[in-house]
Amino acid sequence: MNYKQALKHHIFDVISQSAQQLNVDCFVIGGFVRDYLLERGDAKDIDVVAVGSGIQLAQQVAKNLPNHPKVQIFKTYGTAMLKHEDIEIEFVGARKESYNEDSRNPFVENGTLEDDQNRRDFTINALALSLNSSNYAELLDPFNGIEDLDKGIIRTPLDPDITYSDDPLRMLRAIRFATQLNFTIENASLKAISDNKERIEIITKERIVVELHKILQSKTPSIGFKLLEQTGLLDYILPELTALKGIDEIEGQKHKDNFYHTLEVVDNIAKTTDNLWLRWAALLHDIGKAPTKKFHKKIGWTFHGHEFVGSKMVYKLFKRLKMPLNDKMKFVQKMVFMSSRPIVLATDVTDSAVRRLVFDAGEYVDDLMTLCEADITTKNPKKFKKYHHNFKIVRDKIIEVEERDHVRNFQPPVSGEEIMEAFNLKPSREIGIIKEAIKEAILEGDIPNEHDAAIQLMLEKGKALGLKTTE
Ligand code: ATP
Repeated sequence: MNYKQALKHHIFDVISQSAQQLNVDCFVIGGFVRDYLLERGDAKDIDVVAVGSGIQLAQQVAKNLPNHPKVQIFKTYGTAMLKHEDIEIEFVGARKESYNEDSRNPFVENGTLEDDQNRRDFTINALALSLNSSNYAELLDPFNGIEDLDKGIIRTPLDPDITYSDDPLRMLRAIRFATQLNFTIENASLKAISDNKERIEIITKERIVVELHKILQSKTPSIGFKLLEQTGLLDYILPELTALKGIDEIEGQKHKDNFYHTLEVVDNIAKTTDNLWLRWAALLHDIGKAPTKKFHKKIGWTFHGHEFVGSKMVYKLFKRLKMPLNDKMKFVQKMVFMSSRPIVLATDVTDSAVRRLVFDAGEYVDDLMTLCEADITTKNPKKFKKYHHNFKIVRDKIIEVEERDHVRNFQPPVSGEEIMEAFNLKPSREIGIIKEAIKEAILEGDIPNEHDAAIQLMLEKGKALGLKTTE
């Protein structure tokens, strides 16, 4: 069969002609071919393998393109990259890799297309399309990757045990592709991943996190987390999650399995938001439950303070995985810390409680509600409906209170300077006391969030503190 349609973009003609000028063979390989065959849309990343120098081919292509784009060269890897319109093309020379027990880095030498296909991670990623005039657009598929694509199977071209041991990142890539494509990892691979799981420790945290992000960004992230758990990899990567596994029973009282509950929450939230960090929050919202779990004879299982403990754990987890410790981390912490607030509220929605919720969650109050809605995993349809209805009431109340009181991005209606001026004060404790009293009165609904009312209260409070006005 011929796949000319896959190569309809004019860039392929340019690459093909450039290769001819240099008298080297070249092929499109990997993700682009896989995604074309899966009809996953036009991929913007194109990998080209040249049987010769990838760098020289990239330079020739740049020369032949009208705007002569800049070629970025990565000497250590023998690869080159250029951008053309909205696509990125990576060029690599075909190579043969052999790994040595003692070294993470393979011994690399020049090779044939077949050698290069052999070093690819999965049969579905080893598919290549020819860009040579003799067999233009012919599919070169030595491992029957096309059948694996049809059947939805992740399989390694060579012995899986060796493939995963050589480069343990491939274990995570297998699980990530299984999640993104909803494919099955064939049994020999699954076993090899379990057998090699501890080798994941030689992979940098940054590369692990890239794969975790991609799993979380998939349509059904639970597929990946179940596989990570099943193969034992999760213990090495996110032990906080495996600690949530299992159901304890004492005197006939059980709690839910918080690991599987968490996965349901993540799948739920994936249906409503693309926000990666909100998905992280869903994944981590219950991690404080393992260390806080207790059994009380009268009330059964409790997880007191798990939100606070969980938010502290978020920091340690991000640090361990070398994830950013910036506003993204703080957002996840905030979501975990506040994850039970709307639930408490839902049974008794008062204006002041909603104002406090909006005040504390600030601009993230909608994200918090989305998380809480995803957290509803009851299998009882009546309860499911009731809980959603309660949150709808909370959401409506949030809008109502916000329109009236504007506490979402609360700015004190009276500034510290105004207080100092009114009572002729230098910076002092009293200013803090008055500001706090004004804020509390607004949140409680005792005064509206307005300047005049706040000034009035300021004068009363100042008087009570024994302060004299300047007038
Ligand atoms: P995506 O863009 O969705 O991540 P991709 O398949 O294009 O998919 P890349 O990471 O860009 O993924 O890799 C390009 C190709 O390089 C893959 O299709 C595969 O053939 C090969 N490859 C990437 N990483 C590895 C690896 N660790 N071991 C072996 N081959 C790999």
